Amino acid sequence: MTHDALPPLRDIINSYDLRAKKSFGQNFLLDLNLTSKIARIPGDISNSVIYEVGPGPGGLTRGLLESGAKRVVAVEMDNRCVPALRDVSEAYGGRLAVIQGDAMDIDEPELLAPSSNEDVRIVANLPYNVGTALFVKWLTSTTWLPWYQSLTLMFQQEVAERIVANPGSKAYGRLSVLAQWRGTARIAMRVPAAAFTPAPKVASAIIHFEPREPINKNVQLKHLEKVVEKAFGQRRKMLRASLKGLDVDAASLITAANLNPTMRAETVTVAEFVELARQYGRMRG
Ligand code: SAM
Repeated sequence: MTHDALPPLRDIINSYDLRAKKSFGQNFLLDLNLTSKIARIPGDISNSVIYEVGPGPGGLTRGLLESGAKRVVAVEMDNRCVPALRDVSEAYGGRLAVIQGDAMDIDEPELLAPSSNEDVRIVANLPYNVGTALFVKWLTSTTWLPWYQSLTLMFQQEVAERIVANPGSKAYGRLSVLAQWRGTARIAMRVPAAAFTPAPKVASAIIHFEPREPINKNVQLKHLEKVVEKAFGQRRKMLRASLKGLDVDAASLITAANLNPTMRAETVTVAEFVELARQYGRMRG
């Protein structure tokens, strides 16, 4: 299948000497059929500003542009990639803007500045070393509903499993509660290690997340984070023991939330954690 008029990614990597660096978490996707498939996961993007973190040599970026993204704004830490990405921008009539920097420091709404008829979607093959931190940054946006319509993100498979895990499973934890409280998450695609250059040790998976209105509007994020952190800090202990480190009486809190004190964190549903957080906020006044 032919794509755009740009050279194959392998040639770009050779001509700009973009050998992958471990320190940047670089594992590149070189198959444009695969990147186009990923770019189609969010659906129609013809009215979207796509925010891409870590475009690298531009494989996924090209997939997004080819799939009709209205514009793509990409933040890349590695300045070696910038000249190659400039070529991509030129080939696609300037629909790509590239910023060199650390995505952890970006104020996204300010950078993306969507017009009233554009929606914002994040699509990224995240660097494994900051992937979870970025996801948490986007999930804990102080305004909710947030400034984006969806997240389509590549993670190590084990992290993806944690995001979608149900109560009662080993993978269920802080990330599952936070993500499922704030929206719906599904594994949209599994990607074998061999699809990357260089191939990482483990398989990956793509999460598609869409934010939704809170289950209970009276719950504050900081309270939910606190009870979830304590409960999973000692996940094998019963709630009556694991919640002892909170600054309220654990037994009264559990009773107020109508839960059984002998439950363990991994069997507490998202709705039950939300109620624990609401009662915790009430008890702290
Ligand atoms: N999108 C490319 C692809 O799919 O082939 C590259 C993905 S690679 C897993 C991750 C990319 O994120 C690398 O290009 C790396 O330089 C970049 N990166 C790493 N840390 C970053 C950060 N804090 N902010 C922005 N980009 C970062």
